[in-house]
Amino acid sequence: MQFKLTSSRLIVIVALFLVCVDNISFFKHVLEVYEFSLSNIGFLLSLGVVLTAVITLLVTLLSSRYTLKLLLITLVLIASLSNYFMNTYNVILDDTMIQNAMETNINESMDLLTWKLIAYFFFLGILPSLLIYRVPVAYGSFKEEVWGKTKCIALMILISLVMLFSFNRFYTSFFRENKPLRYYTNPTFCLYSTGKYIYNTFYKKETTLKQIGLDAKRAENGGRKLTIVVVGEAARANRFSLNGYERQTNPLLEKEEIVNFSKVYSCGTSTAISVPCMFSMLERKNYSDKEAKATENVLDIVKRSGASVLWRDNNSDSKGVALRVAYQDYRSSQNNTLCDEECRDEGMLVGLQEYVDAQKGDVVIVLHQMGNHGPAYYKRYPKNFEKFTPVCQTNQVEKCTSEEIGNAYDNVILYTDYFLSKTIAFLKQNDKNFQTAMIYMADHGESLGEKGLYLHGIPYFMAPDEQTHVGALMWFGEKSKERIDVQTVRQKAGEEYSHDNLFHTILGVMGVQTALYDQTKDILIYQKK
Ligand SMILES: [Zn+2]
Repeated sequence: MQFKLTSSRLIVIVALFLVCVDNISFFKHVLEVYEFSLSNIGFLLSLGVVLTAVITLLVTLLSSRYTLKLLLITLVLIASLSNYFMNTYNVILDDTMIQNAMETNINESMDLLTWKLIAYFFFLGILPSLLIYRVPVAYGSFKEEVWGKTKCIALMILISLVMLFSFNRFYTSFFRENKPLRYYTNPTFCLYSTGKYIYNTFYKKETTLKQIGLDAKRAENGGRKLTIVVVGEAARANRFSLNGYERQTNPLLEKEEIVNFSKVYSCGTSTAISVPCMFSMLERKNYSDKEAKATENVLDIVKRSGASVLWRDNNSDSKGVALRVAYQDYRSSQNNTLCDEECRDEGMLVGLQEYVDAQKGDVVIVLHQMGNHGPAYYKRYPKNFEKFTPVCQTNQVEKCTSEEIGNAYDNVILYTDYFLSKTIAFLKQNDKNFQTAMIYMADHGESLGEKGLYLHGIPYFMAPDEQTHVGALMWFGEKSKERIDVQTVRQKAGEEYSHDNLFHTILGVMGVQTALYDQTKDILIYQKK
């Protein structure tokens, strides 16, 4: 007689494999809270049992004889990948992270491709999938299958209940005080997040765009205005020498008359949240991605006031912010003339004078930087900016020492320092004809191995300062200083600000009059007439 498994047994075996092999990160985080001791061991084992029961229950409910193997193989493949990312970068695969992954382009994804990732995928994904594919399963008649499923489901519920009651004291604290631990269960949380992302993206009702600031108009007095808003990428505040970092990472900006804001906090910990939030009227505490995308932003309002608005992007894209204004992609050598290993931020300044010369009224230009996009920091700057060495020369940050990672990261800040000084030089060229200003703000920070964390994207409430405390500074031309009280702005530059302030600051600096403008939220202070 040939060896055959019942469908229920196959499901339990695969569930056990997922729990034992792909949930290392989950158990590691559990052990940080419930240490390994005699009094905890029963609970720790029961967690494994409950997780196995839950996965078995879900697969039993969702599968039929025709879809069982396909479903199991999909789970095993997904789990092998999320296992790699959780173990390597200590990230959580929530719906924002899934959104980031979906909105990331191929080049950025290639940065994440490593031999270790391939090994995880092959040994923990492909190989078990082949076994699942090959193993013969004995299916009964329809009636027998339904009965088998019912028994299996009842048994899994019973096992879970017994565990929950036996370790009731532990589970109360597990569910109440240690909620984030669930985020590390694999592949359950990743699947939940994917479902949430798909629902939000494809099934939510098409909303019509809500127009705001319909009363927006240009203040009558004053000459033409030219503002460049630089959206930085993953640049954390404490790596700027302007903020007291012991390494000189801002040698050029230190020579300029800039105003440095030392306590600016981001709206999110990822590009997909922070960038739309920065330009949205919504604030971090009431921010919703759905509402932000269904509502006009500050660029739409500035455009309505009569100004020209241009977005140049050397990052992934504008995350929906620049959908109704002029948009130019600087990620490819078609537009960007400064590309070597990859296209450089400085390329966004090439030909910008021609654009400005062609405009009639006020102008706002947004430059979305590649900046410190990780993990391949060493690729983010031309070689002559490699001042801090040795640098981490791989995208596998965990293979490098923290010093090598930090060096590569700091070299990118140095390149941003150069890029911003070039932007200021560009504005100086235009100072005769415009009230010029530059506003620089990074979208979020970056973890470089502190507390075992890398990259960014941790849910905001548990995010460390490194991921939310961002670099921010401004520069004003001579004519702007007649209107803006730069001295008072500088005196208040050490106060706490956030991305919430950017909406009103852009309206203020551009002199746009609308009932939406709240002067108390504008970072700038204007000269009294
Ligand atoms: Zn970002």
